[in-house]
Amino acid sequence: MTTKYKKSDLEQFAKIIENKKVEKKDNYSIKEAIQESKKNNSPNIISGTSSGIKLYMFQTGTLKTKLKYIKMNQSNEDFEIPVPWFLIKHPKGDVVIDGGNAKEVSVDMHAHWGSVVAAYEPVMAKHENCIDQLSNIGQNINDVRYLLQSHLHLDHSGGIGRFPNATHVVQRKEHEYAYNPDWFAKAAYIRQDFDKPNLKWHFLEDKKTDFYDLYGDGAIKIIFTPGHSPGHQSFLINLPNTGPVLLTIDAAYTMDHWNDKALPGLVCSSVDSASSVAKLKKVAAENKAIIVTGHDPDAWKTFKKAPMFYYD
Ligand SMILES: [Zn+2]
Repeated sequence: MTTKYKKSDLEQFAKIIENKKVEKKDNYSIKEAIQESKKNNSPNIISGTSSGIKLYMFQTGTLKTKLKYIKMNQSNEDFEIPVPWFLIKHPKGDVVIDGGNAKEVSVDMHAHWGSVVAAYEPVMAKHENCIDQLSNIGQNINDVRYLLQSHLHLDHSGGIGRFPNATHVVQRKEHEYAYNPDWFAKAAYIRQDFDKPNLKWHFLEDKKTDFYDLYGDGAIKIIFTPGHSPGHQSFLINLPNTGPVLLTIDAAYTMDHWNDKALPGLVCSSVDSASSVAKLKKVAAENKAIIVTGHDPDAWKTFKKAPMFYYD
């Protein structure tokens, strides 16, 4: 069942976040949040027309996999990873980054993903698709102006074609490769997800368009970070209060990848992968950015998640 929240509830939640009353607990139920805000007698001060930039962090469930599929040459032990994706509210138009697994995965994972399910088994409830989750925070899907694709792997391609007014931004190299991947990467691309009619694409051209500034205001920068896939890209989000947040996505699956202790279990170039991490580290240091890795089960727990929480 999809929970719908009233605007007044959302305003209360926003107020709670501002008061930082609930930070010690990660997973508040909506009921608890309302109780908490009543206890604090929070007035509705968050305007629905706020012009500020906000970053919401979501996930479409998890993938049950093996450690070796995430960290190259490591053990066969079970490893469960979150599948993150993001919404950025921006005065010039809202932006979704990736979109997690396609909603069809929650209906019949074998039909939609095929044999790859044996290595990466999705755990995803029906309401966890990106469209239902966005409606939970009152997001109109028509207001999504851009869908930014870090790359086109199956746990990132679930939002493509679901936003009627969105331009899809991807590296040209990634788009071409997705149609004709090497044998070892084939299972990671689900053609039905990205081969849809009437999609508006905007292709970026690797080094020539590096640090692409989406709105020209420095709020959202797209960084070319190949290695995990040929046209992978990461994102630097500049938030007015929180400051810079670096979404590495799969350029660094986990903090072990960030700290040069592991290569990705799925990689198209280990050399490029290592250079991309080095490049992102420089960006993070120069900007004093908060680092959000792509699939780290421990690090991901420490971030504030939608629908109740956001970064501004
Ligand atoms: Zn990937």
